[in-house]
Amino acid sequence: MYGVPRTGSPHPVVAMVGGGQLARMTHQAAIALGQTLRVLAVRSDESAAQVSPDVVLGHHTDYDALRRVADGATALTFDHEHVPTELLEKLVADGVPVYPPPSALVHAQDKLVMRQRLSDLGAPVPRFASVTSTGEAEAFAIEVGGAVVIKTIRGGYDGRGVVMADTPEDARDIVARYLADGVPVMVEEKVAMRRELAALVARSPFGQGAAWPVVETVQEDGICVTVIAPAPSLPSEVASAASELALRLASELGVVGVLAVELFETSDGALLVNELAMRPHNSGHWTMDGARTSQFEQHLRAVLDYPLGDTSPLTPYTVMGNVIGADPVPDMSMDERVHHLFARLPEAKVHLYGKEERPGRKIGHVNIVGDDWESLRERAERAAHWLSHAEWTDGWDPHA
Ligand code: ADP
Repeated sequence: MYGVPRTGSPHPVVAMVGGGQLARMTHQAAIALGQTLRVLAVRSDESAAQVSPDVVLGHHTDYDALRRVADGATALTFDHEHVPTELLEKLVADGVPVYPPPSALVHAQDKLVMRQRLSDLGAPVPRFASVTSTGEAEAFAIEVGGAVVIKTIRGGYDGRGVVMADTPEDARDIVARYLADGVPVMVEEKVAMRRELAALVARSPFGQGAAWPVVETVQEDGICVTVIAPAPSLPSEVASAASELALRLASELGVVGVLAVELFETSDGALLVNELAMRPHNSGHWTMDGARTSQFEQHLRAVLDYPLGDTSPLTPYTVMGNVIGADPVPDMSMDERVHHLFARLPEAKVHLYGKEERPGRKIGHVNIVGDDWESLRERAERAAHWLSHAEWTDGWDPHA
């Protein structure tokens, strides 16, 4: 039966599909509310499965596993977008309270559906086209002036499934390879941009909305490395427009929970929507130390239809640096790296995900709060680099 905690606990039970770091940090927020996050994980050593005592082992494409994790849960929500839409619809038909509902979540799963819906809603998006032949891809690239981005319609993350093509010929060749493998793709114009931003909001079933300040996200090789909150020198009218757009999209799409709207600030200062995520998002990790309510607590509040928390920042700026697995993995243990980091930067707030270090994998993040974003950025990036590589970017030697 749904909505009745099977443990006899007076607290609601939120079940999350996926056992990654987002589930782990949501569990951390659940603890403070007297709750235990129930997690559907594929393996018992996943990030969240290590810390929650209520783990269901199974795959997110297996309907029985989804039913097991939803049994008795007040709400079923997600740490990733990979549950097939048909299974989500089946869960809803079987009475499971799925938040965000599949009709909203599809806009975070299918880039073509998202682009079409956003343009119908009058939201600014890059020019795009669906392509089913190499000729269409080439014609689109010629139409937009050459440089395009080819994206797999489903299944991409952290830049996987995104390929840049500088000429119509490249576009044709790249699309030919995807189509030969049977992978549906779309094309869009390559946007000339100043930087990337993200507008993070939350919405509850009651219809309450709340927005955190708009942030700048710095990407390297398609992976977010640094987040500066709020985005430095963003004109206040542009920041308000971005927040209002995100709140409007949350409402029009029927989102429940956290919604991240990833944006491009174009070279002439306009905003375009890149993509949507309907779950806690990397662009909101700064809220754990820099905002009155973290995105993880807010996501729980939203899916439980509690009143939403205050999103105001606690300090003028917070900078987050992602700790990304280095190649090669350093010989120095993570324990020793943390020890040295704390000795040098006592203000650094470290969040590690319990994941094995592998090149390019997000294994943690560091937040630093304060007044001067440039100094915060330098320290957060130095701290994150140290934890990844066991090497100080400025050559600092503790023994010198
Ligand atoms: P993913 O689903 O892997 O996160 P995105 O669609 O967010 O993929 O693209 C990853 C990165 O590729 C973006 O953060 C941005 O840096 C770059 N990118 C994506 N689309 C465009 C575009 N139309 N023009 C220029 N750069 C783009």
